[in-house]
Amino acid sequence: MKFYPEKCKIEDLRMQPFIDPDELWDLIDNTKADKDYVREIIAKSLSKQRLTLKETAALINADSPELIEEIKEGARQLKEKVYGNRIVLFAPLYIGNKCSNNCLYCGFRSTNKEAIRKTLDESEIIKEVEALEDNGHKRLILVYGEHRDYSAEYIAETVKITYSVKKGQGEIRRVNINAAPFDIEGFRTIKDSAIGTYQVFQETYHEETYKKYHLAGKKSDYNWRLTSLDRAQEAGIDDVGIGALFGLYDWRFEVMSLVRHTNHFEAVYNVGPHTISFPRIKDAAGLNLDPKYQVSDEEFTRLIAILRLAVPYTGLILTARETPQVRDEVIAFGVSQIDGGTKLELGSYSDSLNEEQDLNKEQFHIADSRSLNEVIDELLQKNFLPSFCTACYRKGRTGEHFMEFSVPGFIKRFCTPNAILTLAEYLMDYAASDTKVKGWENIESELKGLEDGGYDTKDLRDRVERVKAGERDLYY
Ligand code: SAM
Ligand code: SF4
Repeated sequence: MKFYPEKCKIEDLRMQPFIDPDELWDLIDNTKADKDYVREIIAKSLSKQRLTLKETAALINADSPELIEEIKEGARQLKEKVYGNRIVLFAPLYIGNKCSNNCLYCGFRSTNKEAIRKTLDESEIIKEVEALEDNGHKRLILVYGEHRDYSAEYIAETVKITYSVKKGQGEIRRVNINAAPFDIEGFRTIKDSAIGTYQVFQETYHEETYKKYHLAGKKSDYNWRLTSLDRAQEAGIDDVGIGALFGLYDWRFEVMSLVRHTNHFEAVYNVGPHTISFPRIKDAAGLNLDPKYQVSDEEFTRLIAILRLAVPYTGLILTARETPQVRDEVIAFGVSQIDGGTKLELGSYSDSLNEEQDLNKEQFHIADSRSLNEVIDELLQKNFLPSFCTACYRKGRTGEHFMEFSVPGFIKRFCTPNAILTLAEYLMDYAASDTKVKGWENIESELKGLEDGGYDTKDLRDRVERVKAGERDLYY
């Protein structure tokens, strides 16, 4: 089967399935990973070029401890060289867990009769957003089950409500979406509510396995899911996030497929995905999985380093599904966004009495339940620069990850200054007192770093002073 015939017109590729399992398995089974080749591939990625499927397969097959360490070191270097030390923070906000699909791994599946179903009403959304703003959040991802109640109009309405909530100095400046895919018209409606990224995870790119895990509802249609972000692009949403749920099928196949999905977007829309996510299956109510494809920590950290090298320009998202230890290791490989202070139970951000995780009320268990301030404090201790920046999207600089990566000086001119300004806001408005001390020290050393690199920081220093004096939302 060939999905990319030589003389095929680009229009013909739109919304066409693009995963050929035989092609991907053939590459995994037959690509040799000798030392010199693997080193050449790492060097190619460090020279800022995206890897081919064959090169990705070679990294996957490089399984000696020595080469695995070289791949991880390559990912660390790429992160340092290209992205610096910023980490963007966000929180998920579950709006509704009614669901007509039956995804066997998910606590929200229709056959889970124990699940307590809830959809936040307008006043509950407002309370939740206020609680998130009180913690210092500026970026949210709204999450929904797939249900007739959650139409495109409904989702657009909840986005507008979220943007409208302002409490004290708090406001949400970017709303991303993780919801069911729509038709082109539906995506247009949602785009008009000024969303940031639309995420749809394929879960598994292996069709046979997909069918085994998705038994009912619209999501059981593999191709409808696979081409969903093509429809989003057709509707004008060019910030799209792809992902695979690791643990359903062989991780090597999923990594290859994520790279294939990226190639598909590049070939057809001239822009790769904005972000790649790699959730690993966590315990959920009634979860009964074939352990054959369980991904160990060792494989998981390896696959993130491979993805970093394979698609060097794309944002990588890691969530609180993972333990702080795993998070710490892979952040250094170029993860660009993490969530902080995450709660998955509907309504739980504003319900301070409810600290227990209850599988009947949430989609799955998380492994990192630190507060946003704790996460920020630890990032500061490790000399990362926590950021709440939303500037590119609001300045109309779409494809910002690609610009960060390809435009010389972009990070120093925009990303670091905006990270400093948003961290300064956080320190003024929300940080615990010892976090404040660390935060201002880090800001000063970031400013010095820019100056040592020949950047004029006068205007930036002025703006930091203006933030201290009470001005907000200053960005480049
Ligand atoms: N209902 C929409 C959908 O399925 O695309 C969007 C929301 S769904 C709640 C978000 C993602 O959670 C899914 O795409 C899946 O990858 C992930 N997920 C589901 N069950 C999980 C589990 N047990 N552990 C970890 N992640 C899970
Ligand atoms: Fe519903 Fe999404 Fe869970 Fe599937 S993963 S049962 S579609 S909420």
